[in-house]
Amino acid sequence: MNRDHAVVVGGSLAGLLAARVLTGHFDRVTLIERDRFPAEAVFRPGVPQARHLHVLWTRGLELMEHLFPGLEDTLITAGAEEIRVPADALWLTSSGWRARFDLTRLLTFSRPLLDWAVRARLGGTGNSGGGGPSVEVLEGQEATGLVARGHDVAGVELRSGGALEADLVVDATGRGSRAPAWLAALGYPAPPETLVDPLLGYASRYYAIPPGFDPGWKALYLQADPPATRRTGGLFPQEGGRWICSLSGAGRDYGPTDEEGFLEFAKGLRSPVLYEAIRDAEPLTPITGFRRTANHRRHYERLPAWPRGFVVMGNAACAFNPIYGQGMSVAAISALALDRCLRDAAAGFERRFQRRVARSASGAWLIATGEDLRYRETEAAPAGLRTRLINAYVDRVVATANADRRVCSSLLDVLALSSAPASLFSPAVLARVTANRIRPPVPRLP
Ligand SMILES: Cc1cc2nc3c(=O)[nH]c(=O)nc-3n(C[C@H](O)[C@H](O)[C@H](O)COP(=O)(O)OP(=O)(O)OC[C@H]3O[C@@H](n4cnc5c(N)ncnc54)[C@H](O)[C@@H]3O)c2cc1C
Repeated sequence: MNRDHAVVVGGSLAGLLAARVLTGHFDRVTLIERDRFPAEAVFRPGVPQARHLHVLWTRGLELMEHLFPGLEDTLITAGAEEIRVPADALWLTSSGWRARFDLTRLLTFSRPLLDWAVRARLGGTGNSGGGGPSVEVLEGQEATGLVARGHDVAGVELRSGGALEADLVVDATGRGSRAPAWLAALGYPAPPETLVDPLLGYASRYYAIPPGFDPGWKALYLQADPPATRRTGGLFPQEGGRWICSLSGAGRDYGPTDEEGFLEFAKGLRSPVLYEAIRDAEPLTPITGFRRTANHRRHYERLPAWPRGFVVMGNAACAFNPIYGQGMSVAAISALALDRCLRDAAAGFERRFQRRVARSASGAWLIATGEDLRYRETEAAPAGLRTRLINAYVDRVVATANADRRVCSSLLDVLALSSAPASLFSPAVLARVTANRIRPPVPRLP
């Protein structure tokens, strides 16, 4: 492959991280984004999910810091809050309250702040020690198809007319990706797809944290206990002295977007603590809903043939039910995989990378779909015996983790995508989980 010019389509997180990696391998990198990027850390239409709670797990933050040294400092300077986990949180799991061990840290911030900070750092890569070229950004431009050279890809077509030639095109256009149609135009079959849809909907709004508010916790996370209950609520601090409150319900028990319904829904969570916190707090925004949350995987790695000069990553390849907070971290893991695959000059980079994309998503996919298959209403092939056995074991892991520091640490590592789900079957964890034979009753608020 020539390494003159790479084009990334889509300027959300997957695209920004890919562009950063490509500056180390190509003479020129162009990022095409349909929106215009705001100069400030504010919402833009192409990332509608940015109005909802976004948790960036440890692994994702570490990888982003690796790609953009100084990112954490930028976020903290802009007001991101550091919380200890679970020490600073009241966390109601499906098996009761989690003991407040001090195991790891999370930075909490709004999604627009993260995107703004990453964009600011990307703008600086060419001149600030990144070693590669600057990324040229084409804003307000929509890619409408691929430029074909035989069965291979030689660039992208633009809605504004004309085309951009490239040695590599990266599709990072999110769930709405048109890659299957673009590939079909080049003569490739549609990729096999897997859909696991828990029919889950979010409703979110920002509140001002009341002055002097100090109940002994900084964040709340109240999970559903499927199939008995379907509602989850999160209340997390964000820059600017705000809380973001995201309520979600599976099985069409969607978080409501009207004032009364929102508060009633919060009251219906498994603990009243979140409702009591927001009841008298000052709302700063209207309530916004979001329902496009199915786990959706396009198995490009299984196609019998694949064009040179084209790859797909991020939500365009695999999107998750967002409630488990995995998409941004998986995008970061895939960006690192892109770097590794490009270091190998052997032919067949594109197929190697699609296999790595699939592997990068597999642990998160197992976690998200395993949980979602607990809901009776989830639309998917029914859970097989393997999933049911794993879920029964995971129930025991969660119950044990609530009171056992060692197991809690292992479970957090898996949720944070720092360890593979298989690590929950290590002898040390297995021994502690099997010793804890009784699922404890839901304890009172700690
Ligand atoms: C409600 C909700 C909550 C979430 N919470 C979390 C969380 O807590 N933690 C977490 O890790 N992840 C979370 N996610 C997932 C996270 O938002 C995504 O994984 C992340 O944005 C990466 O997605 P992406 O870059 O692949 O695609 P997207 O974010 O969807 O971005 C696609 C981009 O491509 C642009 N685009 C689309 N088509 C074109 C085109 N033809 N030409 C040019 N540009 C185009 C769009 O304008 C957009 O900028 C959540 C998602 C949702 C829906």
